[in-house]
Amino acid sequence: MLKDIKGVGPKTLNLLNKLGIFTESDLIDYFPFRYNTICPTELKEGEVVISGIVETSPIATYIKKNLNKLSFRIEAENQLINITIFNRAFMKSNIKRGMEITVMGEYDEKHNTITASNIMLKSIEETYIEPVYHTTNGLSSKLICTLVKNAFLNNPEIVDYIPDYLVEQYDFPDKESCVKLVHNPTDLSSIESSIERLKYEELFRFMFKINYLKSCRTEHDGLKRTEPTSVVDDFIQSLSFELTKDQLSAIKDITEDLLAPKRMNRLLLGDVGSGKTIVAITSIFYNYKSGYQSALLVPTEILANQHFLNITRLFKNFGIRVELLTGKTSKKERKQILQDLESKEIDLLIGTHAVLEDDVQFKNLGLVITDEQHRFGVNQRNIFQNKGVLSDVLYMSATPIPRTYALTIYGDMDISIIKTKPNGRKEIKTELKTNKEIKEILKTILDEIKEDHKVYIVCPLIEQGEEPSNMMDTITLKEKLNKAFKGKIPIGLLHGRMKADEKENAMQDFKDGTTRILISTTVIEVGVDIKEATLMVIFNAERFGLATMHQLRGRIGRNSLDSKCILISDKSSERLKILVNSSDGFYISEEDFKLRGEGDLFGTRQSGDMVFKLANLKTDMRLLTQANVDSAAFIKDNIDDDFANYKEYQTIKESLLHID
Ligand code: ADP
Ligand code: MG
Repeated sequence: MLKDIKGVGPKTLNLLNKLGIFTESDLIDYFPFRYNTICPTELKEGEVVISGIVETSPIATYIKKNLNKLSFRIEAENQLINITIFNRAFMKSNIKRGMEITVMGEYDEKHNTITASNIMLKSIEETYIEPVYHTTNGLSSKLICTLVKNAFLNNPEIVDYIPDYLVEQYDFPDKESCVKLVHNPTDLSSIESSIERLKYEELFRFMFKINYLKSCRTEHDGLKRTEPTSVVDDFIQSLSFELTKDQLSAIKDITEDLLAPKRMNRLLLGDVGSGKTIVAITSIFYNYKSGYQSALLVPTEILANQHFLNITRLFKNFGIRVELLTGKTSKKERKQILQDLESKEIDLLIGTHAVLEDDVQFKNLGLVITDEQHRFGVNQRNIFQNKGVLSDVLYMSATPIPRTYALTIYGDMDISIIKTKPNGRKEIKTELKTNKEIKEILKTILDEIKEDHKVYIVCPLIEQGEEPSNMMDTITLKEKLNKAFKGKIPIGLLHGRMKADEKENAMQDFKDGTTRILISTTVIEVGVDIKEATLMVIFNAERFGLATMHQLRGRIGRNSLDSKCILISDKSSERLKILVNSSDGFYISEEDFKLRGEGDLFGTRQSGDMVFKLANLKTDMRLLTQANVDSAAFIKDNIDDDFANYKEYQTIKESLLHID
């Protein structure tokens, strides 16, 4: 247990939880995201690392809220040097006269002062490699490092998920020493092979699940339907717009799947705004006509409401009964809905996870659709199948990924892709700006607000961490904007550390107009339609993947108003220009892929098991392919005896049935 680790008290436990660490093995799997290599150098102007003896006791000065200073002197290289370090007043009692320490920072020769960025309470003779962990306020990288070391003192069980013969084949070092090395490296070259092994293991587990699901698929026969697929024409003709070629062909794929006796397991991939919803609705129409009920599952209440209003309107003249079930539905209403579902008076149920609860039973559920599939992990992929025993399943995702990739990570599904966007959608004008132009940007924001429009602003950080950063964070920005606009414009805040209902409220406030500017990290709800949002500003744009930013700007330009996206970055880059020049999500993700720079292939962060601790689906394509081939072969050879020689199989199988 986490609390049994030396150094983990209630406060630290809380902070660890904040970082998503809940168990001992979470902590052991909390890997550094980079390493600092440090070697002592001579004193010269600029960045230095130097060991010396503390000569004077440190004095702490509190300058203002959130800013303090620690000053003292050390003796090094036969001279006394002044040391200043900001926001480390808490180290005062640890730095004692006579002890040997190492200081890193900027040396100012004129004042004989080092403004330190880091202090280590020991001397270093040679090169020293320091792991750097993602931190949260109150929990430093160093402390995490210590806690991980302490965790190993309890002899934790470390499970290796790679089958023995593959460990041998690739000559992988044993898992335990790899994990230890990654946390406590001695030299950089040995870290590399350890990381490679751990990445491969992650990808193997991931691809094992997918290939396992794929191998199970063929066993299932589907529902019987006889209705010709052309019955959807009536509905399509009732729409106020014409469907695009890609939409029509996706509808054809889906309705033919539904008609065929085999069970459907299809992914509908399409860029934001490509019009996936109407494809889903048409499929629901066909399912209704062929005599079955449908369920549409979405990740949040806002989206559920939005779909409910939209779909009720479109189905109005067809006698299709649509209901909404979310966590907010009253007990009484819920009871009625459950009753009407079982008597098949409801044809379509739209809802959040509430739809998955055990007592929600359909009379004859024929089609289950999940919107924004990337929000649900692989583990959720098969729970719908347990709902209506033979239901067909359609997943929708706005994650534009290259086709070859899609075929691997969605290997257990068939795929339809919508490439083109409906005509008449306004292009979103995208501009690159630097921080120097902030005044002008503020004016643009103000102009939009004056027009009664709304503005999204995205920052890379939630708040400043232990180490000072030159990246913008949501908290600081909110203060700055309140100052600049004299508190006259209501500003909302949205980030990943807020609870689900807090996030939803923040989104709802913005939708209602209670707030006019929404400052957030990349967690802004995909798929939410806020028509008056016309401006998106992204700070430190160099920090985000192109696919992420493309998805983000899909939040604006949702009606006929002119919309603009401003990318702020002081580093000019070819990469960002791709976004300025293109609005094709697939093209952008392919280009991003080719450049292999920073950035994530999957746009907004994945949830559940699509998040990897070390592996990066983009840069580790080779390992992914290998893991795919290996896991498929492994499954083929072992499925008949139910993986008798692979005890980790049970864990993987259980995690597939687990609902997050
Ligand atoms: P997404 O693929 O991001 O879920 P939506 O389904 O929400 O996109 O569609 C975005 C908008 O485009 C909606 O307002 C929808 O009504 C509209 N739309 C969809 N298809 C067409 C079309 N063929 N012609 C014109 N507008 C369309
Ligand atoms: Mg959508």
